[in-house]
Amino acid sequence: MPYDVTLIPGDGTGPEITEATRRVLEATGVEFRWHMQEAGLSVLEKTGTVLPEEVIASIRQTKVGLKGPITTPVGKGFRSANVALRKSLDLYANLRPAKSYPGLRSRYENIDLIIVRENTEDLYAGIEFQRGTPELDELIDFINRAAKQKLNPDAAISIKYISVAASRRIVKFAFDYARENGRRKVTAVHKANIMKFSDGLFLSTAQEVAKEYPDIQFEDRIVDNMCMQLVQKPELYDVLVLPNLYGDILSDLSAGLIGGLGVAPGANIGTDYAVFEPVHGSAPKYAGQNKVNPMAMMFSGVLMLRHLKERDAAKRLESALASVIAEGKYVTYDLKPRPDDPTAVGTSQVADAVIARMREQNR
Ligand code: NAD
Repeated sequence: MPYDVTLIPGDGTGPEITEATRRVLEATGVEFRWHMQEAGLSVLEKTGTVLPEEVIASIRQTKVGLKGPITTPVGKGFRSANVALRKSLDLYANLRPAKSYPGLRSRYENIDLIIVRENTEDLYAGIEFQRGTPELDELIDFINRAAKQKLNPDAAISIKYISVAASRRIVKFAFDYARENGRRKVTAVHKANIMKFSDGLFLSTAQEVAKEYPDIQFEDRIVDNMCMQLVQKPELYDVLVLPNLYGDILSDLSAGLIGGLGVAPGANIGTDYAVFEPVHGSAPKYAGQNKVNPMAMMFSGVLMLRHLKERDAAKRLESALASVIAEGKYVTYDLKPRPDDPTAVGTSQVADAVIARMREQNR
């Protein structure tokens, strides 16, 4: 029986890397029935939204999505389709592994970190008040009275919202992941020394949950110290669990430790549905040029195969990717010693090389 998977190419360079990823996934021998859905800038003009209802409906039906990146304008315009998708399907856990492979150009070797980012709350919950609106004036009045502050009337406000329920389920997810995948330690990352109520609540909830997992070590780190520690001694860390904003930032930092965004995969997982996508964005300046690295999305495909319990296929695809990286010949510009290296290949040639490598390994 083929697996039903919703395939969302996204926009910018998304369609190219999605096509390359679809090809390598099919070459594993696992059968898929792709449910193609458009989201992002490509449908905005036609439908007036970057996330048409059919996309959500399709994932509700297939339960699994594989998604290319989608552009979100900075500081203006529509809200992020990515955030909306995660919220509407309650994909509360964002899993972002950062693993070194020989051949990746990086200052570090042997990085093996799992970032577990809370995906529904915090400053990303979309509770924002625009400067000069009556709602904000009312809020500023309230804050001035209730918190004995004197806020500037020309401010804008975004709310940092953290609940026990969401903190509890994300920390449990991190511990369950650690247990199921033979990991030794979970580190909760926060800024509870300053944000005593919101991050304080995240930390105290994490400490409570940790008691239910005596077989896994637990510790916590303040987020600024964590950044320095990850740069100085990343080998000390294993699974990190973080509220939304810190998780977003530290997963890019971790991608930097392993050789860049071109190889950093991600998964958005909820109780009922899961959507797999690269950490990187739509890199629009390279759209249509057959230039960017499809490996981050292919590694996201590896995560999807594991989620579907196709462990052998996941292993074969991961090892073919590792072998192509180690050889360093059929890789895109970002994995070459210099970005203008004339021997860099294009997006689709990487797919050809990975498919050829899987065939060789099968012989
Ligand atoms: P980006 O990740 O798109 O690109 C930053 C730079 O990283 C690129 O200019 C490129 O040099 C490099 N890069 C990224 N992906 C690469 C790849 N596969 N291969 C080689 N090099 C790669 O980040 P940005 O420029 O900040 O964001 C562009 C758009 O993407 C924004 O609209 C942003 O909102 C959106 N975005 C979407 C998602 C998502 O869909 N999940 C995630 C992050 C950003």
